[in-house]
Amino acid sequence: MNAIKLRARLAARVQNYSKGIGGPEISNEDIMLAISLLPEQIQWLIWAKWFDDESARDKLLAVLKYEAELQARSAKWRIPDQAKLQKVCEMAIFETTYPRLCGKCGGHSFCWMEKQKRGRRKGSVAKPLKVQCPVCKGQGVVEYAERWHYTFAGINRRAWVHWARGYRGVIIPILKEWESEFQRRVLALIKPNIMP
Ligand SMILES: [Zn+2]
Repeated sequence: MNAIKLRARLAARVQNYSKGIGGPEISNEDIMLAISLLPEQIQWLIWAKWFDDESARDKLLAVLKYEAELQARSAKWRIPDQAKLQKVCEMAIFETTYPRLCGKCGGHSFCWMEKQKRGRRKGSVAKPLKVQCPVCKGQGVVEYAERWHYTFAGINRRAWVHWARGYRGVIIPILKEWESEFQRRVLALIKPNIMP
């Protein structure tokens, strides 16, 4: 996978890189080197997300579960069920590695809007206006529904209320933090070479 594809999937958006990629070329070897210098759990997240590596996914699950148990204690969130924790961590990994693209903009993060005809000269053609997508606010992705979560985890709706607190407050932030660490180190390398 090349650097541009990597960046595109990282931002979870479909972007157009076809025009004007300037700056010095960055090789896959540069990216691989940068990745290899990251802490192990972050590397597993990257292999799982950007390279669909199944064994990395298993290792990531184990380390995420361990970290979630540690952080649950300091966040004073009681884990009701170890087997369910495994499933909930699996879900967090799924949600992070397969973000849901926005249905309105298809992940492009912008939409085309017709300009107002008022005040225009006869015969002139109104060019559509490129605007930030109002549904995802330019993020390109939208959250999975609450119902998707408790169904995936096999937890009933009432019990999910307690789980959701740990899911959003403890488990997802762990993955977000690992992902931003990757962005800080690896994207810094890629960024000057691509057009947004
Ligand atoms: Zn959108």
